[in-house]
Amino acid sequence: MKNLPQFPVTVVGSLPRSRTVSRALRNRQRGRIAATDFNAIADEAVLESLKLQETTGVDIVSDGEQRRDNFYSFITECIDGIRLMTLAEMLDYVEDKAAFEQLLNALDVPAFALKNPVVDGKLARISPLVLNDYLFLKRHTTKPIKATLPGPYLLTRSMWVKRLSYEFYPDKESLGDDVVAVLRAELHELQKAGCQFVQFDEPVLTEVAFTGPHETHTFMCAALSEKSSPEEELNFAVELMNRVVDGINGEMKTALHVCRGNWSQQEEVLLRGSYDLLIPYFSSMNVDQFVLEYATERAGSIDVLGELPPDKEIGLGVIDPRTTEVESVDFVLDKVRALLKHRSPEQIYLNPDCGFGTFADRPVNTTEIAAQKLGVIHAAAEILRSE
Ligand SMILES: [Zn+2]
Repeated sequence: MKNLPQFPVTVVGSLPRSRTVSRALRNRQRGRIAATDFNAIADEAVLESLKLQETTGVDIVSDGEQRRDNFYSFITECIDGIRLMTLAEMLDYVEDKAAFEQLLNALDVPAFALKNPVVDGKLARISPLVLNDYLFLKRHTTKPIKATLPGPYLLTRSMWVKRLSYEFYPDKESLGDDVVAVLRAELHELQKAGCQFVQFDEPVLTEVAFTGPHETHTFMCAALSEKSSPEEELNFAVELMNRVVDGINGEMKTALHVCRGNWSQQEEVLLRGSYDLLIPYFSSMNVDQFVLEYATERAGSIDVLGELPPDKEIGLGVIDPRTTEVESVDFVLDKVRALLKHRSPEQIYLNPDCGFGTFADRPVNTTEIAAQKLGVIHAAAEILRSE
């Protein structure tokens, strides 16, 4: 990417939505707001998010995901053959009801509040997923833009519910083929439009790696009957990702974001464990950058990243988006210096561990604290650049 300072500061994607935006998103889901009215509210919110990033020193900006109810289910509106279901509704269709019910009880959110996209027809992309959002942002900034998309494994995994999907896709593999096609179409349009950075979000990979086939899963993994081993699942994830990015090169950077969940401020409900189990799979993924959380101590040691192939860049998570305490500049500098043992300065980008508002109704922080935290990353970057 051209014209970027060293240690570019970026975001993982989402910023907190205002009450007005949250209300508009809910109304849109219920069909109670006209598209033009929704867009007017969302456009303004995106410009506010952009301003926040520009004033805090973010070098690669996102639209704050202001138009999305969450990081993956927004695709329901762009693709035919998918419907949104609450977890409570899904209970009627999942195969292992006892495990799913246990999971719902363990979650710290009510089952009717979270919605998951489920395939109940043949997929057909009826409108771009993020291209128009990218084009809107591009009209308002000269900074490079990061566009974020849900990853192919997450989509395939979370959307296939046998009783609803089988008629159209007899297995996850056949659904995966169409998910890959949809994401490739989007990627090519983004590339043609000049987008310089596309990040795929695959937060469930940690869960697959850490919890094995029979443990309790979070809602994103829970929908599916699980017959494959973690190794088979992770190989499937690698294959899908590589098919999506096949042939993409040159100006457009591709990245993969993997965290341990970002739906709660309660540390104990989020996953814990090092990325070391995922390193072999990351190593065979043909993306340029891995956007990883390292501000949380649950992620373990940065040193495991030394095992990645030497050409892989890191989007280093240096602040926790979920805590109210704002990290010190030194905290960020220590993280970066630990990574400098394994990567050159050109290979290190700086970002929070995850978004500030993965779910529109459940932001993990306030806009004020998000701004302060981004400012700290920028201050640390300035020090690193002067060294
Ligand atoms: Zn995340």
